[in-house]
Amino acid sequence: MSQQTPSRPLFVSTWPFGKPSNEAALQKFLAGGTLLDAIEAGIGVAETDPGNTSVGLAGIPNSEGVVQLDACIMDGVGHRGGGVAALEGIIHPISVARRVMDKTPHVLLVGAGARAFALKEGFATRDVPLTGQAKAPEVPKGLKGHDTIAMVALGPDGNLCGGCSTSGLGHKLPGRVGDSPILGSGLYVDNEVGAAGATGLGENVMRYCGSYQVVEFMRQGLTPEEACKETIKRIARIDPRGFDLSINFIAIDKKGRYGAAGTGSGFQFSVCHQGFSKVLQSPGMTKKDVGPVGGNVH
Ligand code: ASP
Repeated sequence: MSQQTPSRPLFVSTWPFGKPSNEAALQKFLAGGTLLDAIEAGIGVAETDPGNTSVGLAGIPNSEGVVQLDACIMDGVGHRGGGVAALEGIIHPISVARRVMDKTPHVLLVGAGARAFALKEGFATRDVPLTGQAKAPEVPKGLKGHDTIAMVALGPDGNLCGGCSTSGLGHKLPGRVGDSPILGSGLYVDNEVGAAGATGLGENVMRYCGSYQVVEFMRQGLTPEEACKETIKRIARIDPRGFDLSINFIAIDKKGRYGAAGTGSGFQFSVCHQGFSKVLQSPGMTKKDVGPVGGNVH
């Protein structure tokens, strides 16, 4: 069941590590920042947490031992967006994504071009030594330990925005880009309806434009939690993997309703507004949850 609050701003993010990020976002907003400033500051906290091995430069490296980061940001006002992918050695990819949105005519910069842009803009760098995890002979199947911070927010003026940042799948092939920096996949904001973000195995989100689908289900009248569930059901109906997808979504709508859902036993997500900051458990989704609509479910 989706929950609702009249309190604004409202921040919802993925995983328990979203809690300190939400709180930093709220502080930024209360100190006079815009909602976008708040998103950027909140996600920035996860990006510099040395204990977070799935966001920022402490993330698990690719198969060559290099950390490559993906991020994007979206502003409901003006339907603007920016992203970076396979970005190396930059401490705050979310801030570079915002700079792409604010200062270029483009939406997504990747690899060497993204790094050159970040350097030219004066963003802080850090050399990450190659790790002992380098040179995996192939991408290990079923690898665990990948996560993303996706954060969506609703401001007092009714406007929405969101951001997303990850080091992606550990041991990925160099140059692999996941769902997280792709608008409509890892994050989507529609200022008329709501916002959604994803975490999990990006390949299983980006083949279905997952976050866009969540927002579209909200447009049709579903609550945020129902929209997350319906998106997972739809993907599971089509995908040969059924519910064995490892995908999770968060969502908020214009009314301040929020919810989440994930495959398997679900996942934990974080919610914050003034006087409230909690980690909540999302419902899980398995074959038995499909009910009467699951005709083609494997
Ligand atoms: N979605 C991210 C990716 O595939 C990883 C995750 O959120 O678990 O890059």
